[in-house]
Amino acid sequence: MTYKGYEAVVGIEVHVELKTKEKAFCTCSAEYGGKANSKCCPVCLGMPGALPVLNPEAVRLAVKAGLSIGCEVAKISRFDRKHYFYPDLPKGYQITQFYDPLCRNGEVKIKTPNGEKNVRVERLHMEEDAGKLSYEDEDLIIDNNRCGVPLIEIVTYPDMVGAEEAMAFVNELRRTLLFAGVSDCKMNEGSLRCDVNVSVRKVGEMALGNRCEIKNINSVNFIGRAIDSELKRQTDIILEGGTVVTETRRFSETKGISERMRDKETTADYKYIREPDILPIMTDTDYVEKVKSELGRPPREVEEELISSGVKDQQAELICSEPKFADYFEKVKLTVSDVPSAANMFVSDVIPKMTSDGGFPTPEVFSECLGMYLSGDVNIVSARELLKMCADTGESPRNLAEKRGMFMLRDKGEIMRLVEKAASECPAAVAEIKKGKLTAKKVIVGQVMKLSRGRAEPRSVNEAVDRYFGSSTLG
Ligand code: ZN
Ligand code: MN
Repeated sequence: MTYKGYEAVVGIEVHVELKTKEKAFCTCSAEYGGKANSKCCPVCLGMPGALPVLNPEAVRLAVKAGLSIGCEVAKISRFDRKHYFYPDLPKGYQITQFYDPLCRNGEVKIKTPNGEKNVRVERLHMEEDAGKLSYEDEDLIIDNNRCGVPLIEIVTYPDMVGAEEAMAFVNELRRTLLFAGVSDCKMNEGSLRCDVNVSVRKVGEMALGNRCEIKNINSVNFIGRAIDSELKRQTDIILEGGTVVTETRRFSETKGISERMRDKETTADYKYIREPDILPIMTDTDYVEKVKSELGRPPREVEEELISSGVKDQQAELICSEPKFADYFEKVKLTVSDVPSAANMFVSDVIPKMTSDGGFPTPEVFSECLGMYLSGDVNIVSARELLKMCADTGESPRNLAEKRGMFMLRDKGEIMRLVEKAASECPAAVAEIKKGKLTAKKVIVGQVMKLSRGRAEPRSVNEAVDRYFGSSTLG
């Protein structure tokens, strides 16, 4: 949106927790949750003399994340200490990469109403998470379980204009990292969180105004609301003749506006120095190529392929919103002839089961049920019922359909006998047909369906009825 002729220009910093078993510089568990301070040791608590040792799995996932957004991986990168004082940071500094980050120059392609757009990524570096402050009754609890959990920070250029583009960026980045398997990307648990830098300018102008940073927003929806509210606030300041102060703000979810926290820190405030206890990370081409080979296809590509094979846009988007949906559907795609029908059935009958605790059929069972429907062996109601029953019992769809008498009736002789029976039961309709009122054939068709308890295959029934009356009216 624009406001009084102004637009918001947005750059984003995203912190993502890497999915390692152990922390970045010690062997404590990196798993989320648990009793406060149950997952700490002298290293992650920053005790004097404790020495950090870099977790190679964290490096691998960070490189993988960088490659998934098209970054260059540095041959040599190093760690630095970023100093600040806060109760959740027992060391008094954070281990991060300031001067020589692991990755640079990536990009994330987003869809906008005006077509596709590239959001450039300036850098991706590794760092460690801090602890968490919370209140229990009256007491302030400092929980250091998250201290030392490996993070990557991804920094974009101010390439996004308005809330929609920023939200599209976060959604696209999130699913890209999810498909790369580097993080859970759960915004509600803080494993993906965003700092949003917003400035405003008159629509059509290029120069950037003073920016404010809104810290730690934990939902895509709030990112949009924070940007819109910041656009109004900054524009009104400018139109009243004031100057926007460069500062750090937080978004109040209840009030729907951002509030001042503090002046924006400058680089000098952090007194960066080289981390002396950790060796540089050196990567060679073989290593980078090996990590690259472990990456699957990006969700964008999978989604485009689904759309080009006839799947509806919204269904393709849903299938590509979670790796487990996309993986399942990839397997189904290999064995079915009609991909759009498979998508319909998958979205309506399987995804709801996969997102709840319910059991769901294997891709093989899914393909078999769909195939039975597409070939006319069973009707859609039976196909859906089979999907559900096979998931519950583990039985094969064909056996189950046989046992329950679900196969469609297609035998010409048997259907003709049913037509004859229907005709004898509906003399009024037969008389009408013989007078030339052919719409009365529907009555006979309906009666055949009833006699077969819905199992007669409709096309065969229509043909048999035509044949029956064709000969009898002529004769
Ligand atoms: Zn530890
Ligand atoms: Mn950071």
